[in-house]
Amino acid sequence: MRTPVLAGNWKMYLTPAEGRKMAETLRSLVAECAGREIVLCPPYTALSAVSEALEGTNVFVGGQNMHPAREGAFTGEIAPPMLIALGCRYVIIGHSERRQYFGETDATVAEKVRSALAEGLIPIVCVGETLEQREKGVTDPVVEIQVRQGLAGLSPEELAGVIIAYEPIWAIGTGRTASPDDAQQVCAFIRSVLAGLAGDKAQETRILYGGSVKPENIKELMNRPDIDGALVGGASLKAESFARIARFE
Ligand code: 13P
Repeated sequence: MRTPVLAGNWKMYLTPAEGRKMAETLRSLVAECAGREIVLCPPYTALSAVSEALEGTNVFVGGQNMHPAREGAFTGEIAPPMLIALGCRYVIIGHSERRQYFGETDATVAEKVRSALAEGLIPIVCVGETLEQREKGVTDPVVEIQVRQGLAGLSPEELAGVIIAYEPIWAIGTGRTASPDDAQQVCAFIRSVLAGLAGDKAQETRILYGGSVKPENIKELMNRPDIDGALVGGASLKAESFARIARFE
């Protein structure tokens, strides 16, 4: 049995004070939620405040990105031990916005994933096709390359420990969710690619869906066999809506 993961990606929203307030409200709304991992990924500047507000609760914290090196002369970057020092257990890697606007590639994703695992962070690795690719019918090969190259060189045990987020780019922030059947189909395909790399261990890897997830569609998504949770953008900014998602309501 795979433990579901409900992760909120705040992107570049919420100040430390706003983040703390949201986290304080969320923690009581989901206090009774057992048997799942609930995660918030605030901007770096709010990590400390949010971590403090969530200490000792069932809500965990993650980064939205990291540099692969432990330290160094990399102005503007954040190293994995710095995330850990702020209470992070998880880190999002290779989000489509990082690929699209900040030049990240499957090679940089692979480097960051290896570093995150070596440092003890659980990577949430994002993959997904553009609208043009979906319309051309090349979703599977596109996602397969992202999975194979982004996770290159990992052992079956390491592959079991990563989280993959399938986020079709055309469904992000557009209000256009992939249908649960379409999302399931790609998540099952990703699991088959993982099975080629990790054998039976692929059954342990959590695969999330992301893209316009909201309280109204979470239940149907969670009903699909290969969807193990969600990576949520906009609807994770408000404690009430993210709590409803975490509770599958
Ligand atoms: P939305 O939920 O706002 O569509 O964002 C999805 C996303 O990119 C999460 O990483």
